[in-house]
Formats: sequence, structure tokens, C-alpha cells
Amino acid sequence: METRYLQFNDAHLRCAADLIRRGELVAFPTETVYGLGCDATDEQAVKRTYLAKGRPSDNPLIVHVWSKGQIPEIARDVSPDAQKIIDCIMPASITVVLPKRKIIPDCVTAGLNTVAVRMPRSQQARDFLRYCDVPVAAPSANTSSRPSPTTWQAVKEDMDGRIAAVLCGSPCDVGIESTVVDMCGEQPLILRPGIVTADMLEELLGKKVRVVTDPKEKVNSPGVRYKHYAPKVPMALELEGDEQKLKNLYLKLQAEGKNPVLLVENPQNFPGFNVYCIGQTDREVSRNLFSNLRALEKNYGYIIASFSSKTAFAQSILNRLVRSASHNVV
Ligand code: AMP
Ligand code: MG
Repeated sequence: METRYLQFNDAHLRCAADLIRRGELVAFPTETVYGLGCDATDEQAVKRTYLAKGRPSDNPLIVHVWSKGQIPEIARDVSPDAQKIIDCIMPASITVVLPKRKIIPDCVTAGLNTVAVRMPRSQQARDFLRYCDVPVAAPSANTSSRPSPTTWQAVKEDMDGRIAAVLCGSPCDVGIESTVVDMCGEQPLILRPGIVTADMLEELLGKKVRVVTDPKEKVNSPGVRYKHYAPKVPMALELEGDEQKLKNLYLKLQAEGKNPVLLVENPQNFPGFNVYCIGQTDREVSRNLFSNLRALEKNYGYIIASFSSKTAFAQSILNRLVRSASHNVV
């Protein structure tokens, strides 16, 4: 199939929306990462999404809306706390898990009786969703297990020839996926951390929010247990900013002929090394994380990343970094 590369103008948005309504797959930008969209009410289209990504069928998809008015059409029994998140935070980089309505087929939710709902903050994303005017199921637009795409060029690397179209919008500002919070129980439960942190939700709701931290904990979010975000080359992760340790590991890998590269907070402290900056602030680290991994895997044989920030948002970034490194923390 020949993939079309579309722009953000009326004619191309119409074309993208027509493709969605005909059951085709269209990648589109959001503020977190690029999504691979299809009509969430079309079972065949949803199945094609899993195929295009090579995604295990027990990993449910997030359903995207452009208007809060669409939420009661796909979810039911919205609790007062969930409603508060919808009213006070959305549109934002947060996904709320709610009891689902029948209009959403089981293949979207991997058989769960809940549906994950998101209204993106990105204006480009909401424009596209408004033209579609059906709920749009969208996982990240990468091949399963690869770093999520944060530019249309990264989508092209993974999806060219496999999907009908890519809407070529801005690079993603947040750079890691949305916070997923399960609002079906008494206590809100963060299944996947993101830029909307537990403290922010606690302040809004006036109650404790639990965060799933143990990857072995059995939660109703199958997606969190798979191999994820991994570059094509091996990766190690260092968490204290211990520059001597980083240099020693680099030199050892270099002596073994592994062609290593450093991705660190202070590259100026590594003269003579192959070294890149991971970012000066959490926002910068997050925005560039996946595009850095995709760039470095092309030229190096081993990525050594270092990230020592200890803020609440840094914990969400770490959640991705640890998986990118396949838990190889040194
Ligand atoms: P991705 O599509 O790559 O952003 O991943 C979507 C994430 O949302 C995965 O971690 C899924 O497990 C999670 N998710 C989607 N739908 C549900 C649901 N109904 N209940 C719990 N988690 C969900
Ligand atoms: Mg993903």
C-alpha cells in the first residue's frame, strides 16, 4: 500500500477523515506521541491496527475524542471524581479508564468491560478528531516494542507502506505517552505515569491516588507488562549522574568494540567521548527522549544513558527509560 503524507489544511483533513470513516488507518500528531488512528466502532479497522503495529491483541487501545460530549456515548457510570477530571483537566495528557458502552467493540478493549478515554491537548489532534467525528482508537504509531514516534518522520520509519496516511504535524511537545488513570474503583489508580502526576490528581480530587509501581503487580492494564520503547541497540541506564562510572563503562564497551555513545545531562564533562545531551530540564528530556533513541541507534552500537532528576515528572520519564534499557540499570 502506498502511504499518503498529508498536511494540516482543510482538503487534507477531509481526506484523512474520509479514510478513517472507510476503515483505513491514519497516523496523527498529539502533544504526547503520534497516534495510529482508526474508527473505534469498526471492528475490522481495529484489527488492522493491531496487525500494522504487530501489537499483541490483549493490549487494549485508547479511544480519542475531540469533544467532552462524546464521552457519555462511549463510557457509562462516570463517577463524580472521573467527572471532575473531565471537567477540570481535559483536554490534557491524561487517559481515564471508565466502564464501557457496547458501541465500543471488545477488540478495542481486549475484552475488558472498561474503555480508556482521552481528549488530547494538541489542537492539531483535536482538529483531526473533529473532522473524523467518530471516536478514534489509537495506540502509539510505532511498531510494537519500538520507541514511540514523536515526529512524522519517525512514524514513516515504522509505518511507511503499512497504513493509508500520515498527517504531518508538529513534533510532539510532551514526548512520552499520557498518564493512564483507572477511575472505576473507589481509589484512583495510575496504571501508567505521565506528565499529569499523582500529586496533581490528589490536589484536584482531595484524596489519595495510588500509583502502580511494581511491574509484577497484576493490574487491569495488560500493556504495561510488554517489552517497550526499546532502541535497536542495547542500552544501559545510570541514575546518579556518576560520571566516573559512566566513563568506565564507556571505555570498557569501547575496548570490546561495541561502539558506545553517552546520553547524559552534562556532555561538556566528557571531552573526547561520543556524547549527546539528554536534556537540561525534565521537559526537555521527555520531549527528546524517543527521538534521541531513534537517532542514536542509527550510528552507535550501545547507548549509555544517565538521568538523575528526582521530581515527580522525572519518575514518569524513568518509567520509559527503564523499559527502553530493558531494565539494564547499572
Ligand atoms: P499505547 O496505545 O501504546 O499508548 O498504550 C495504551 C495503554 O493504555 C496501555 O498501557 C494499555 O494497557 C492501556 N489501556 C488501554 N485501555 C485500557 C483499559 N480499558 N483498561 C486499562 N488500561 C488500558
Ligand atoms: Mg505504545
